[in-house]
Amino acid sequence: MAELANLNRERLLERFLRYVKVNTTANAETQVYPSSEGQWELGRMILAELEELGAQDAHVDEYGLVWAMIPGNVEDTPTIGWNSHLDTSPETTGENVKPHVIQSYEGGDIPLAGDSSKIITIAENPELNDLIGKTLITTDGTTLLGGDDKAGIAIIMESAHYLTEHPEIKHGPIRILFTCDEEIGRGVNHVDIDKMGAVAAYTLDGGGAGDIDVETFSADGLTVIVKGVNIHPSIAKDRMVNALRAAGALLERLPPEQAPETTEDRVGFIHPYVLDGGVAEVTIKILLRDFETAQLQVKADLVVEIARQVEKDYPGITIEVDHQKQYRNMADGLPNEPRAVEFAKQAHDELGLEYRLSSIRGGTDGSMLTEKGLPTPNLSSGQHTQHSPLEWACLDEMIQQGQVLIQTAVVWANNSQS
Ligand SMILES: [Zn+2]
Repeated sequence: MAELANLNRERLLERFLRYVKVNTTANAETQVYPSSEGQWELGRMILAELEELGAQDAHVDEYGLVWAMIPGNVEDTPTIGWNSHLDTSPETTGENVKPHVIQSYEGGDIPLAGDSSKIITIAENPELNDLIGKTLITTDGTTLLGGDDKAGIAIIMESAHYLTEHPEIKHGPIRILFTCDEEIGRGVNHVDIDKMGAVAAYTLDGGGAGDIDVETFSADGLTVIVKGVNIHPSIAKDRMVNALRAAGALLERLPPEQAPETTEDRVGFIHPYVLDGGVAEVTIKILLRDFETAQLQVKADLVVEIARQVEKDYPGITIEVDHQKQYRNMADGLPNEPRAVEFAKQAHDELGLEYRLSSIRGGTDGSMLTEKGLPTPNLSSGQHTQHSPLEWACLDEMIQQGQVLIQTAVVWANNSQS
């Protein structure tokens, strides 16, 4: 059995608390990149820490992405990447985060100090039952925590620091990349895969501990534009064609058994999420999600077929359906570098830790990196109940994931020596 890296617990916690206090909420309303000033601020803070711990080639690029290299200390081992994201979800504010540390969790529900209506319950977080005695971090209930994905950043930073302090641990070159605006789908817009120079990478952006996410949704979007004819209601007889009524009919005819609120596990969905407009014109935005990439087209065709039916039933209405590609299931591209998942599994085995190969009903930077040609499974990072004021993180799980990350680098080195 391999030895567990004795990561610096206090230093990891301090890092995490430092990072979550910087407001890095992503903002989908702007096209500026990155979309919030706080991402620059956190990037600069991390850059200084990378320089301090002795990373090479540390820099923040023109897009706010943070890059660094931990040089290898053995020959012939390919470069691997470690990745997480600086921004936090716009679903809950990240301004003025007041993290609260529970040093030895005693069990039971956790009321949050800043809002008496906010309670982290065992009913909704049964995994808490396995974490008695562990160190947890919550918010005061008025903001998100930002463990998604500052837990990932803190784990990567502490693991990198540990490697520079322990030259006896043999590993190849490790490229570190922290991206911006992942939460609004722009995480890899400005990532140069050649600059990564890696054969595989790992995102640290999963929940809990012990997951190796090897599958994500494939994702497309539809923009449906329903056009009618507007005219003053007083003279509208036989002349007005109301786009709102046609849009309502279209929404009504989308199959209810293919909705996010009625599906789970491996079943995909058609999800209308924006409705905007009036009598003359209505825009509907729809997400298509499925683990089988080919099913996205089947879903898109179904929406087009419904649109044609609605046109027939509402004479004078025209409906355009525009189809946009979003991201692809990482399972489509991971087989191009089977060692990425294989060595992560082996690292868990060597450390005597259990793992689960799992699927995410969503995407990660890893989905897009994999599609761009860099196979990138996603690992756990101790996050829980992300994007919410009820978010929390577990320090002990973060430490375990740092140990997994380091051991994975060791496995890459061990398997590359001739
Ligand atoms: Zn994330």
